[in-house]
Amino acid sequence: MSERIITAEERNEDKEFEWSLRPKRLAEFIGQEGVKANLEILISAARGRNEPIEHILIAGPPGLGKTTLANIMANEMGVNIRTTSGPAIEHQGALASILTNLEDRDIFFVDEIHRLARPVEESLYPAMEDFKFDFVSGKGAGAQTFRLQLPRFTVIGATTRQGMLSAPLRDRFGAVYPLYFYAVDELFAMVIRSARLLKVAIDDAGARIIASRARGTPRVANRLLRRVRDFAQVRAQGSIDERIALDALSMLEVDELGLDVIDRRILRTIVEKYEGGPVGLDTIAVSVSEDPETVEDVYEPFLMQLGFLARTPRGRVATKLAYDHLGLVKASSGEQPRLF
Ligand code: ADP
Repeated sequence: MSERIITAEERNEDKEFEWSLRPKRLAEFIGQEGVKANLEILISAARGRNEPIEHILIAGPPGLGKTTLANIMANEMGVNIRTTSGPAIEHQGALASILTNLEDRDIFFVDEIHRLARPVEESLYPAMEDFKFDFVSGKGAGAQTFRLQLPRFTVIGATTRQGMLSAPLRDRFGAVYPLYFYAVDELFAMVIRSARLLKVAIDDAGARIIASRARGTPRVANRLLRRVRDFAQVRAQGSIDERIALDALSMLEVDELGLDVIDRRILRTIVEKYEGGPVGLDTIAVSVSEDPETVEDVYEPFLMQLGFLARTPRGRVATKLAYDHLGLVKASSGEQPRLF
């Protein structure tokens, strides 16, 4: 994966940093008010009955707060959380060992749950329904099936691809909560909060610049804040104002909408090489040296949110808004688009 400041995917350098900034309580979690209200009810109902919360699925692009919400749920319930991801559970035995080690009402958080191996997924069904696990030991005629009784627990699944979840798995969740890209005001509040926790001096105008270029994504807002802080430390005794934020972000080639070099390259590929599209996902991925899944999960959702890119059955198409943003004029048929 290329060095890219804007990507919403988690990078190693983010991990420690994110832990320190991650809200711990529902009340600290900014935005997504509808989801929060629902979760609050789930939590107090489950606590009142001394039961685990029902299984829930949280869907949305990377960096919007799925892992944070799962951790908050555990905190609010006063239970443990066991975190893993779909591809990390290699076989049924690995799943059995995690589930049998849970305590009553614990949360089992599965990131990228749409990527569970099929046999693992199938053994999760009875576990979710009846807290039972059927385990086959041995092979052929001598094979024996054991039924393990599991503690009562909650699966919180996270997915960037709700559409890729199998119907039987989706049906076993009590509810699906889609997360949306955040508004600038919400990201502004997050930047101010993170700056306070990191003890970085920032004024409102500086925070607003960062918020408005964070492509609706808290992880990106925090990362930009960190980069601008470094810049401010070298250029301005550490405090961030509008000028510093603008200079830092222009050095990082993040434009006023939060698009960076790779976003612009995606749009330019469609516009300049393929006359605006439609272009297949694989072709776009090759042109930016990324895998198609990353292009689809990380880059495209925000370009579509901006109305710059449309997915059609024949491929991706750049819209007039994308041409306008790049400073290009959409050519009438046969002509090449040209720069102003
Ligand atoms: P995901 O699991 O969806 O990829 P995370 O939960 O890891 O995203 O969120 C990335 C970072 O963004 C977190 O460490 C947290 O600091 C921050 N964050 C996410 N959502 C919020 C929010 N609503 N309010 C404050 N900070 C948030």
